[in-house]
Amino acid sequence: MSALLAWAVKGVKKPAPTCCKEPTVLELRPNCECCDKDLPPQADALICTYECTFCRNCGENVLKDVCPNCGGNLATRPIRPQAKLAKDPASTIRKLRPGGCAGAAAN
Ligand SMILES: [Zn+2]
Ligand SMILES: [Zn+2]
Repeated sequence: MSALLAWAVKGVKKPAPTCCKEPTVLELRPNCECCDKDLPPQADALICTYECTFCRNCGENVLKDVCPNCGGNLATRPIRPQAKLAKDPASTIRKLRPGGCAGAAAN
């Protein structure tokens, strides 16, 4: 009976919680991947779940709210308060799609 009991206890053991790790912050990329428009942290920008970043014009009119890189949806990028930008500054690494997004939209 003890072996069975041990198995039962092992069976109900819960995995360690994964909700409380070190928080990661958004990169806040500095430009639109399609048209290279500057998108400072306060700008009206759209991002996908992988943080592919686009200006609103490209995201809504060219890409139709679908990320050309991963196929996910685009959502409004949250604005990071100025006080937090001092601690967690926006990324300065510009990413740009070769050829922009005109080809992606045609597919
Ligand atoms: Zn753009
Ligand atoms: Zn994406």
